[in-house]
Amino acid sequence: MLVKRGIAVSPGVAIGPALLFGAENFKLSRHYTSKSAIETEIGRFHAALNAVCTDIEENQRVATERLGKEYGAIFGAHVLMARSPELVSEVERLIREETNTPERACEIVLNKYAKLFQELGSRYHAERAQDIYDLKNRLLRQLLGKQRQEMTDLTEPVLILAHNLTPSETANLKREFVLGFVTEVGGPTSHTAILAGALELPAVVGVGEFLSEVTSGDLIIIDGDRGEVIINPIESVIAERRAAQQKNESNYAALEIERTAEPITADGERIQLLGNIEFPTETGHCLERGADGIGLYRTEFLYLGVEQEPSEEDHYQAYCRVIEDLGGREVVIRTLDLGADKVPSVGGLPAESTNPALGLRSIRLSLQHREGFKTQLRAILRAAAKAPPGSVKIMFPLISSLNEFRQAKMVVRDVMDDLDEAGESFPREVPLGMMVEVPSAAILADQFAAEVDFFSIGTNDLIQYTLAVDRGDPAVSSLYRTGDPAILRLIRMVVAAADQPNRKIPVTVCGQMSSDPKFLPLLIGLGIRRISVTPHSIPELKAVIRRLTIPKAKDIATHAEWLGLSRGIDNYLQGEVSKICPQLVR
Ligand code: PEP
Ligand code: MG
Repeated sequence: MLVKRGIAVSPGVAIGPALLFGAENFKLSRHYTSKSAIETEIGRFHAALNAVCTDIEENQRVATERLGKEYGAIFGAHVLMARSPELVSEVERLIREETNTPERACEIVLNKYAKLFQELGSRYHAERAQDIYDLKNRLLRQLLGKQRQEMTDLTEPVLILAHNLTPSETANLKREFVLGFVTEVGGPTSHTAILAGALELPAVVGVGEFLSEVTSGDLIIIDGDRGEVIINPIESVIAERRAAQQKNESNYAALEIERTAEPITADGERIQLLGNIEFPTETGHCLERGADGIGLYRTEFLYLGVEQEPSEEDHYQAYCRVIEDLGGREVVIRTLDLGADKVPSVGGLPAESTNPALGLRSIRLSLQHREGFKTQLRAILRAAAKAPPGSVKIMFPLISSLNEFRQAKMVVRDVMDDLDEAGESFPREVPLGMMVEVPSAAILADQFAAEVDFFSIGTNDLIQYTLAVDRGDPAVSSLYRTGDPAILRLIRMVVAAADQPNRKIPVTVCGQMSSDPKFLPLLIGLGIRRISVTPHSIPELKAVIRRLTIPKAKDIATHAEWLGLSRGIDNYLQGEVSKICPQLVR
C-alpha cells in the first residue's frame, strides 16, 4: 500500500480500479492471459518489439542523414535499450510465469526501469527515464493497435490518474464511468479543480510524480476530503474509507433540510446565496439546492473542445437555456475569460504569451478581438429580452483600469445601437458590473464604484495576483493563502468603496473562498451579503448562515484581522465554524 498526498479540491471518497490517462491515453484493464495462449502472447510481444525497433532504426537513419552521426546515435541507444536481454527476459517471465498480458507486462517492467533511473536524481537520468516511458508508449501503441481506447469509450467505472488534465478533458469525463480523478500537477483554484467541483467528482491535484508507481487496474482510493490517494490499500484501510464515504453521504443527506430553508442569519439578515456555473446544465444543480440564482456564469466554457469559435446562435441558445431554467431569478453572465490556464485559444484568437496569467487574457482579449466580443454581447442582450428586467446582468472579468471598464461599456452601447438598427428587442437598462480580481481594481474600488452597477470579488485571481502565486502551481501551493491578511484588507476596502453616500453597490464574493464554510462568517463579518458558490456547497453554507448572527460574524472578522498571520487565521476560522456548526466537521 502506498499513500500519496496532494491538494483536496473536490470532496468525497471514491474507490475503484485505476485508469492511467497519460499523453497516450492508453486504457489497460487488469486481465490475465490464459495458459494456453502464453506462447502466442510472447510471440505478440516480440512482433511488437521488432516493429518498434524497426521504427526507431528508421528514425536513426533519418537523423544521421540530416543531422549527423551523433544525433543518429541517440536512437541507436534506444534500440539497444529496447533489445536489452534483461528487459526482454523480464517481460517474457511476467507473461509466462504470472500470465500477464504483454501490455501489462511491458507496463510493469518499463515503469520499474524508468523509476530506477528517476531515483538516481540527475538530469541525465531523468531524461533516460523519459526515454523509457517513450519506449513503453511505443510498445503499447504497437500492442494495442486498433484496440487503443479513448476516454470517451469507457464502459466500466474507473478512477482517472493523470499527469495533468486540461479543463476540456475534465469536462468531457463521463460522469457515469469516472468515479474521481487525481493529477500530478494543478492547484486548488485551477480550472480543472473548479470543474471537478462542478462535476461533483472527488478529486485530488498536485500530488507530484507518482504515476510510475501505479499500473492501470490497481485498486485506488481517492479521498477528496483529506487530499489523499491510496494505491493498493490494505483491507482495513478500504473498510475505514468506505465508512468515511458512507458518513459523508449521510452528513450530506442530513443537510437535506437546508435545501428548502432560507439563508437568513439567526438574527434575521437575509444573505443572497447564488451558484457558480460553467455549463447551462448546472443551473438545475443550483436550484435543487435552493440557490437564489446564478452569481457567476463562466461563459468561456462554451469554447471547450470546439474547433471554431461559437456562433452568436450558440451563445444565444446557451443563455436562453439558463434564463429559462431560472424562471425569473437573476443570472450574472460573465463575458469571456479566455486565455491563461482556462480554455486555449480557438480559431482566429491570438496565441498565448509566455506569461499567460499576465498576458492577453480575459477582457483584454475581448477588447482586442472586438468582433467576437460583440457577438457574445449581442447574444446576451437578445437573450435578456426573455427575462424580467434587471435579472440578466453582464459582468466583465479581469478589469484592471477604469479605462478598460469604460471601453467595455462602450462596446455594449455600440452593440445596443446595432441591435436597435436591426429591430431586435433587448433591455437597455441591463446592469453592467465587474470582477474585482486584480489588486488595482480593489485599490481603486472607490473610483470604479461611481461607474459600475455591481462588484464581484474573484478571490481566486485576487489571491494569485496579490500574493504573486500561480494558482495552478503545486510547487507554491503553500504560499497560496486564502486567509492572508492582505486579502482580508482588500475585501474590506471593496466593501467600504461600494457603500457610496448616495448609492450602495452590491458586492458579491464569487471565488472559491466563498464556497468554503470556514470563510463564511469572516466574509459576512467583513460586510459581504452576497456570495456565489460551487453548487455542492450550498446546503452547508446555508447551515452556517442560519446558525450565525451578524455581531458574531463581525467579532470573527475583527479577531481574524487582528491575528495578522494567515496560518493563525485559518486555524481560528476552522475552530469558529466548527463551534457554529459542529455537524460540518469531517
Ligand atoms: C476568481 O478569479 O475568483 C473567479 C471567480 O474567476 P475564475 O476562477 O473563473 O478565474
Ligand atoms: Mg478569475
